[in-house]
Amino acid sequence: MFSPLIDELIKSLCCLPGVGRKSAQRMALQLLERDRQGGLRLADNLHKAIERVKRCQRCRILTESDICTICSSQKRITSQLCIVETPADVMAIEQSGTYQGKYFVLLGHLSPIDGIGPDEIGLPLLAERLANETIDELILATNTTVEGEATAHYIANKAESMGIKVSRIAHGVPLGGELEYIDGGTLAHAFASRRLL
Ligand code: ZN
Repeated sequence: MFSPLIDELIKSLCCLPGVGRKSAQRMALQLLERDRQGGLRLADNLHKAIERVKRCQRCRILTESDICTICSSQKRITSQLCIVETPADVMAIEQSGTYQGKYFVLLGHLSPIDGIGPDEIGLPLLAERLANETIDELILATNTTVEGEATAHYIANKAESMGIKVSRIAHGVPLGGELEYIDGGTLAHAFASRRLL
């Protein structure tokens, strides 16, 4: 029904989360018929971001620098380190405006059945940070899913064996909840009422 080029464009838009064939078709036609300028800008920014964005060497968040703006900020509290599963969780916490410390992003959770062990979620790098930095409190903000809880438990044990105080955000975050979908107010409350492990 479409020419090969348009068809390819539609197919490539389908890689976006939540975008099926129908929405991809709408997007492609919108760009081609009404907003070619916007389409070019999208293509250009996508290309630049994919070429230049990498992981922060300290927290593993996405950034185009070696060290991200949060890690290099002088205004953040360096003695608090918050552990999250995804970069989207960092964004949710940042938007809630409740936390001034630093982060470490696991990029997943422990899942032995899928072959995801400590190495895959960056725990050697985390252990290195815990050993080399002065961290007074490790705040576990992994999801409240079974895997998130198991991961939190594992990290808590490691940190406690190094003599580091560990807390877990819990209150207000529903069981099975994914941080990124929780509103800022609830998240702020969850941080304020975190409990020591
Ligand atoms: Zn960073």
